[in-house]
Amino acid sequence: MKVLVAGGAGYIGSHCVRQLLAAGHESVVLDNFAYGHRAAVPADAKLHDASLADAAALDCIFKSGRIDLVMHFAAFCYVGESVTAPLKYYLNNVTGTYTLLDAMLRHGVKKFVFSSTCATYGVPASLPIVEGMPQAPINPYGQTKLDVENALKALAHAQSISFAAFRYFNAAGAAEDGSIGEDHDPETHLIPLAIGAAQGIRPALQIFGTDYPTPDKTCLRDYVHVDDLSRAHIAVFDKLAKPGAALFYNLGTGAPTSVLEVIQAVEMVTQLKVPVKYAPRREGDPPALYANAAKAQRELGWKPKFRSIEPIVESAWRWHSRKPRGYEDR
Ligand code: UDP
Repeated sequence: MKVLVAGGAGYIGSHCVRQLLAAGHESVVLDNFAYGHRAAVPADAKLHDASLADAAALDCIFKSGRIDLVMHFAAFCYVGESVTAPLKYYLNNVTGTYTLLDAMLRHGVKKFVFSSTCATYGVPASLPIVEGMPQAPINPYGQTKLDVENALKALAHAQSISFAAFRYFNAAGAAEDGSIGEDHDPETHLIPLAIGAAQGIRPALQIFGTDYPTPDKTCLRDYVHVDDLSRAHIAVFDKLAKPGAALFYNLGTGAPTSVLEVIQAVEMVTQLKVPVKYAPRREGDPPALYANAAKAQRELGWKPKFRSIEPIVESAWRWHSRKPRGYEDR
């Protein structure tokens, strides 16, 4: 397959590009480097420095060679920012995606793999979360992803595309060889912040909320390795041969892990102390989110290779200990 990877220089996209190449597929990366990193793109992937919103650039890419399938990772993903700057999120995550889909339709490309999120569920009525549960996002970020999911359903119904939307739980970890990893600016995610605090290059880690109705009173999340996420994107290819396919899958390990358990794992793996500060709850954080990913297992044969927090943190540590300041390209 020749795959156009929108956002292929970002955290999840760049891991997926490597997996695509390793599986013998061809990869064309589209990224405008608002958040992506050039060094995360392997030399054997063709790179286009352009925005999703640039219809003329998309036409050039689709004209320059047959594309079989598009994977789309190029979204803004800061929940807090989506609350204060919602239009930025609607313009990029929704309008930008529609521009990409419109270009696909113009050029007869019909297969689409979309990065969605467990944030589309909002505060779940029960746990673990299954795909058929009501979706009621509690922030604009989750709403933009749900808007796209709904548009994709309509496009598949019209037989314009076949798609799979993967609802990620907490993407974490790094390539097993430590060559690429997580580097967000600003960084807001728990594992890189805890490792950076342990290394003494970031401030003490704030634990957001110690009064949740959970066993140790901190939030429970489902951390899933970025290479496991990537494998699901490739495992779905065969299913997209069916015209009008409309597929939704949760991707998580199903193992709820608390903030305190993540900190313990970081201390065990790094053999360093994580300095912490207790802080109030962060707005918009549900107490617990974890997946039932049986559908992906049943239909795609997807089984996460990383099933607990320690090996995920170990892989992250290989990256952060080698590149404590990330790609250093800002
Ligand atoms: N968290 C925390 N301190 C931080 C960052 C995150 O206590 O500095 C908590 C956060 O409240 C959530 C969990 O860690 O319960 C995972 O947060 P992250 O931002 O990594 O991912 P999210 O669940 O928001 O997608």
